[in-house]
Formats: sequence, structure tokens, C-alpha cells
Amino acid sequence: MNTKQLDQQYIANTYARNDVVFTHGSGATLYDETGKAYIDLGGGIAVNSFGIADPVWTQAVTEQLQTLQHTSNLYYTQPQVRLAQMLCARTGMKKVFFSNSGAEANECAIKAARKYSSDCHGENRGVIVTLRNSFHGRTLTTLAATGQDSLHQHFFPFPPGFVHVEANDIAALEQALEEHPCCAFLFELIQGEGGLNVLERDYVLQAAELATQRDILLLVDEVQTGNGRTGKLYCCEHYGIRPDIVSTAKGLAGGLPFGATLLGEKVQDTLTPGSHGSTFGGNPVCAAGACSVLERIDGELLREVAEKGERIAQVMAEAPGVKAVCGLGLMRGIQTERLAADVVKQCLQQGLVVLTAKDKIRLLPPLNISWAELEQGLEILKSVL
Ligand code: PLP
Repeated sequence: MNTKQLDQQYIANTYARNDVVFTHGSGATLYDETGKAYIDLGGGIAVNSFGIADPVWTQAVTEQLQTLQHTSNLYYTQPQVRLAQMLCARTGMKKVFFSNSGAEANECAIKAARKYSSDCHGENRGVIVTLRNSFHGRTLTTLAATGQDSLHQHFFPFPPGFVHVEANDIAALEQALEEHPCCAFLFELIQGEGGLNVLERDYVLQAAELATQRDILLLVDEVQTGNGRTGKLYCCEHYGIRPDIVSTAKGLAGGLPFGATLLGEKVQDTLTPGSHGSTFGGNPVCAAGACSVLERIDGELLREVAEKGERIAQVMAEAPGVKAVCGLGLMRGIQTERLAADVVKQCLQQGLVVLTAKDKIRLLPPLNISWAELEQGLEILKSVL
């Protein structure tokens, strides 16, 4: 049997996979098992920050792998500490909890918010407001937080304590905060899986104001928008807000499973020994990969991300069959006249990897994609459209 047949026989049928087996790559170019090359504008869904087999990242990860791959969190390890220090220095956050995925980073954010509230305001103030169309993960709690009914079917009962409101409707948020005993507002600044919806600036600023007035914690899910993706290290910098908690994952370790929950001043001491933990969280190899990624997301790279994002917006806005372009930096959504799923299929045939987000085409290329690869990819996309 070939890879596709073996996959279908032995792997749980949770993914509608595209008909391609990728075997290797370099930078923003992938190769399949027949040797065919593809320009990668998907970046493993915002994970491969520096593309495939990047030599600097590979060296950092390999050196750590050959030195110490795991000890457990019963002991101190250097890469974890180095990364936490860097994250705090660059964000102004105070402490970090490490995990292995975006969902886990959000689980930690939710637990920290509820414990802060119980510590400071007593029990029964644990409701968290989230947005419709949001995506926060696939664990039962993060799925309960996710404001998409279609993902909820079949899995009831969910852990209680989440209320969903419409994005960009400040009155709805205020009403939810009035009506429910809330401790936090959890949201993405750009809803990735929900269709590349960029939250309005005024809404975010007013929401932050409402939250501060009531000691409601601001939990920003930067699992997809974080780590340089939008042209800032974290997307909240575009809005000028200071979240109480930022959760991130995806691109942080450049292709290794890793999550981080950044804790601000109010919640820096909320989590205490035994209140949370993870066997693999902060794993030295993943942390070394993340250190290498973070060190390279400097001002120059962020400027390039912004410039390349602008270039995508400009080229695609003028392309045939395009209704609208949205997003920030190298997180772009393209509303097309043609069905997005058909565009993805045809792009693959033409040697281009793109993604969808609801009814849009979504582009999340490596942060350091070369101009040549970017232009070539956009040419293919234009020709398909
Ligand atoms: N939060 C956001 C905004 C995401 O985009 C995702 C994944 O797409 C998640 C959370 C869940 O991350 P993971 O799949 O690593 O658990």
C-alpha cells in the first residue's frame, strides 16, 4: 500500500487531507514524493516561521537534541529559562508557563484567569466571554470557548462557563459582562480559523477599558497572530493594548510542538506549585528551537514581514476574481469569486500551497520567504484565479 492508503487504513479519519505526500523541502519550497516542487504560502499553518529545514534553526535544535532532550519539570533547564527571559523582556509580561500546543496555552490562560478571580473576588465568578467565530482549540474546554456551533455538535456536555458574543459589538460585550459573573474576556485580534476577521481598533480599546474598570482579565489568543506573523512580535502591539495574559504557540518554536502562556503583572503569581503543570511543556529541544526563532524576529525581519504583506495585499487586490483582501503582515485572507476549496486544489496542481479560512483563501508563508518565491507564488495564485 502507498502512503495515502496506509494513512487511510491506520490514521483516525479527522483530516480532509489534500492529495499530496510532502517528503522534504527547503525554505519556502516543498517537494512531494514524485519530486515535484511547490511554493509554500501556507507555512504549515503559521508554524514554520523560517520555512523548511532552515539551517540556523536546525543547528540550534540539533545541538540541544544532542546535549539534553528532556529532564521533566522537576528540574531547572537552561533553554526554558533563556526563552522565558527573552519573552518577558520583549513583551513586558512577567512570567511564562510553557506547554505543547495552542489549546494547552489557552487552557492555562483560562485556569489562571479563573484562579485569579477566585483569589481576588471569591468563588462563582468564573465565566469567560469569547467571540462568535473564534477558534481557541480542540480540547473540550477550549472548544467550549470557541464560538462556532458547527464544531460543538456531538461532544456535549461541555465544561460550562463560556458566553459568546458578536465581535465588534461593544454593547453586546458590556451586556454579557453585566449579566454573567465574568472573570475574563478571551479573544483573537485577527480571527484566523474564523475567516481572517481583523477586530476593529475602537472595539478592542473600548473592550480593554471595560475590562480594566471591572477587573475582568484581558486574555489575548495569539496562537496564530503571534511571533512576528503580523509584522509585530505580538499582534496586540498594533492595537496598543496591554493584555493580562497572552497565549501563543504555532510559529514560536518554528515547527516543534510548543505553547506559551505569558502572564502579566496581575496574574504573575496566580499559578502556584501543583496548580498547573505539563510533562513535556518547556521541553529543552523545543525551547532551544523557540530561542532561535525569537532571536531572529528582529526589527528588520518584522519590517520585511510588513512589506511582504503589503505586497500580497497590493498584488491580490488587483488580481482577477478577487473580491477583497484582508489581514495584517503575512497573515492574509483573500475573498475570491471562485470557491476557496477549488482554488486550493488547483493551486496544488500548479505547484503552490495555500490554505483556506472559512470561505477565504488564507496565506501564512514563512516569515523569511524570499521575494522571488513570494512573487512566483502570487503569480501562480493569480493565474489560478
Ligand atoms: N487558538 C488559535 C487562534 C488557533 O488558530 C489555534 C489553531 O489553529 C488554536 C488556538 C489551537 O492550537 P493547537 O492546534 O496548537 O492546539
